[in-house]
Amino acid sequence: MNDLHQLTISQAHQLLKEKRTSSVELTKAILVRLAKVEDKVHACVTISEDAALEQAKNADKAIGSGKIKPLTGIPALIKDVMCTKGIKTTCSSKILGNFVPPYDATVIEKLKAGKAVILGKTNMDEFAMGSSTENSAFFTTRNPWDLDRVPGGSSGGSAVAVATDEAIYALGSDTGGSIRQPAGFCSVVGLKPTYGRVSRFGLVAFASSLDQIGPITKNAADCALVLNVIAGHDPRDSTSAPYPVPDYTKALIPDLKNLRIGIPKEYFVEGMQKEVRASIEAAIKKLEELGAKIDWDASLPHTKYALAAYYILAPSEASANLARYDGVKYGFSYQDTSNMWEAMEKTKQFGFGAEVKRRIMLGTYALSAGYYDAYYLKAQKVRTLIRREFDQAFEKYDALVTPTSPTVPFKLGEKVDDPIQMYLSDVCTLPINIAGLPAISVPAGFADGLPIGMQIIGKPFDEETILHIAFAYEQATDWHKKKPPI
Ligand code: GLN
Repeated sequence: MNDLHQLTISQAHQLLKEKRTSSVELTKAILVRLAKVEDKVHACVTISEDAALEQAKNADKAIGSGKIKPLTGIPALIKDVMCTKGIKTTCSSKILGNFVPPYDATVIEKLKAGKAVILGKTNMDEFAMGSSTENSAFFTTRNPWDLDRVPGGSSGGSAVAVATDEAIYALGSDTGGSIRQPAGFCSVVGLKPTYGRVSRFGLVAFASSLDQIGPITKNAADCALVLNVIAGHDPRDSTSAPYPVPDYTKALIPDLKNLRIGIPKEYFVEGMQKEVRASIEAAIKKLEELGAKIDWDASLPHTKYALAAYYILAPSEASANLARYDGVKYGFSYQDTSNMWEAMEKTKQFGFGAEVKRRIMLGTYALSAGYYDAYYLKAQKVRTLIRREFDQAFEKYDALVTPTSPTVPFKLGEKVDDPIQMYLSDVCTLPINIAGLPAISVPAGFADGLPIGMQIIGKPFDEETILHIAFAYEQATDWHKKKPPI
């Protein structure tokens, strides 16, 4: 048997159900693991040990009286962008450095209702703006496959925690790739649900028309289990969809007979690393062996405009969302002045990091009188074109497959001073947010010991098909079983 910290959700559930372990024992094992590796990877911002052990005790009581649900008693870590009642929620920003929310995000309520154990909060790029977790105001999280490289971002802490067995699973958020890219870089599974599938209530807003919460797990089956719990309509999020939630575990079928998969050539971009291309092509051949019909000539010609449109839309929404951090209502407040305007100015000056300020300036500019039509409106039109193009593609295909990122994890410091290079690392993931589609990244190989992720994109609200493909691929390969040398 695996050590307790190495268990998947389904394995842990089985052991808990058969009373071969307890939630307290499992939580303690994870805390020991955390103590051992955290110094090397720095994945966590807050570890709420006492609260976790309390929740574990309660879970054991529930299990004792025969009330066990799929996530009962199983320890998880949460990206520090989701509100947790009584536990600091910082967005890895100085401006929220001391913010303790008085309420839980809907996803947290749902986990707690199922008696999950919440261990704490994970590091991220400040306000989820970034692709490497280097934009955290606190410290940099490291990639466990090579400690001199980035884990991806912005959900870097969550992906690292799952890769190193610091948690059995984690939650991340994805606005332009922030679940899938770090999942790919750390060799774990990460799913961004369809926009509206999971409630955003209590998720600190970055770009509200793009943000979604999703699971980061050790395999596709676990991903289905977590999605089962967090998905669904929420009257407190007007953009959450009023559709019933299927049982995603029913989609986990090991063959791909009659499934039509398109390979959009625009995603095999110039500058893509050749090892990434080779691994993804090999993975696609595997899907073909499993019965899928592959069209290597699919095309989404508007893809080339997605990055430019995203970097108008996301900063525009961010500039509006981040206006609320004025030092009055919550968070850091500059006090060393008797002038209100100066206090607000200095609160933002000292409270926000460089990338956040860059986004606020970009967004404010794009929305300003005289430029609105030229930038924001135009980007919205591009968004419509990109959506329509995906709609047309999905008349021919059940799913699309691409690399998750054009390269393997890059070196710490390599791109952090070059925003354009950093933005380019999301070329394959952000068109999916623009179109609001679901997509999953699964481990698909290594180049010199560094992970490569495959992205599977689905129709709106068809998380089942992408989980099906991810599961079948996993059954035929063992990339997802490899553990980092830590
Ligand atoms: N890296 C992209 C950005 O910086 C996406 C971030 C995200 O998905 N939260 O905006």
